[in-house]
Amino acid sequence: MDHFLYRDGALYAEDVPVAEIAATVGTPFYVYSTATLLRHYTLFDEALDGMDHLVCYAMKAASNQAILKTLADAGAGMDVVSMGEYLRARAVGVPGDRIVFSGVGKTHEEIRTALTGGIRQFNVESEPEMRAISEVATSLGVVAPITIRVNPDVDAKTHAKIATGKSENKFGIPIARAREVYAEAAALPGLDVIGIDVHIGSQLTQLEPFAAAYSKVAELTETLRADGHNIRRLDLGGGLGIPYTRSNEAPPLPSQYGDLIRETVGHLGCEIEIEPGRLVAGNAGLMISAVIYVKSGEGRDFLILDGAMNDLIRPAMYEAHHDIIPVVEPAPGTEQQPYDIVGPVCESGDTFAKQRMMTPLVSGDLVAFRGAGAYGAVMSSEYNSRPLIPEVLVKGDQFAVIRRRPTFDEMINRDTIPEWL
Ligand SMILES: *Cc1c(COP(=O)(O)O)cnc(C)c1O
Repeated sequence: MDHFLYRDGALYAEDVPVAEIAATVGTPFYVYSTATLLRHYTLFDEALDGMDHLVCYAMKAASNQAILKTLADAGAGMDVVSMGEYLRARAVGVPGDRIVFSGVGKTHEEIRTALTGGIRQFNVESEPEMRAISEVATSLGVVAPITIRVNPDVDAKTHAKIATGKSENKFGIPIARAREVYAEAAALPGLDVIGIDVHIGSQLTQLEPFAAAYSKVAELTETLRADGHNIRRLDLGGGLGIPYTRSNEAPPLPSQYGDLIRETVGHLGCEIEIEPGRLVAGNAGLMISAVIYVKSGEGRDFLILDGAMNDLIRPAMYEAHHDIIPVVEPAPGTEQQPYDIVGPVCESGDTFAKQRMMTPLVSGDLVAFRGAGAYGAVMSSEYNSRPLIPEVLVKGDQFAVIRRRPTFDEMINRDTIPEWL
């Protein structure tokens, strides 16, 4: 569910007409709904009701500070994967004890920054990283709370580029070696081994892979406790999928996911963390773009938009589908026609959709990409020297630019010409 609906023939973001935002900030741009962000966070929080828990928003999905503050003020923790994300979360006042540090390649500098600034836990992904955290913590005279990310070797049944829980993926340590690695961790100075971490992939549309992974984690918890480890926190990762098309079979609800967590690991008495990203932000954001030209090709019509793959890379990178709807609601019964919907970047991959059925559009019309809130703006680039597009946050009848469009000068002046050139 989201808060982007037609009213009297015009698309609204909550109580603001999308066309009004477009007139103010220009196109293309991203727009997010506060109510949708909060609703999704709350669904997760309520799904874990009755268990000691913290929902740590995986901020790599959408990391604008206004989004972070919206969620943090509602009680969310943050899952970060880099020093930049850590500092961003701290910049909006998220306390260190609500920040979890994930990611396969934490550097000494990142570890030191987090230990100095405060951290809830590191999710350790390898033995060398575990030794590095031990070294840095010891040198600072502090103790680093850690979980170890295990790779449960389950098939998440999602796109290969976002599956992380198979043995061939680079993430975590093989669950079969967990006892050995936990034994080493317990013997290292400067570490407090508090739990287990798992994250098997993104955009999961079934519960079975989660059930398989969490059952393995439950079993491992008992084994490690028998080995003498005080396992008291389970970080169960993120990954619950969202409906990218309204015609598709709906993915499981957060409440069903919460029930599954209760069934698989609820009896262990551990504190539960989850790290949802996509489901919190995905359907809370649209990318709005304008039609530059309608071009008639050989047997097909192209809608050439001012948004492109550098602004929203998911279709090019993951063959992802986004519903694309006109900002002016078509009159009921208007006939649709197929379009190839493309951006102006010089790559054939700069294609958002092929032979997509749309009501007729003309130059200047606005379209909205639904489900663009997660892995949208954060993955954008300036390829083709196209400045990063603005982000806008709506709350009720108010809206604000939360990242402005840089000027061409700002973009160009970041380069420096060497003196000797
Ligand atoms: C990306 C990621 C997440 C979030 O995944 P979503 O599919 O966006 O929910 C959570 N945890 C880790 C470790 C990740 O890398």
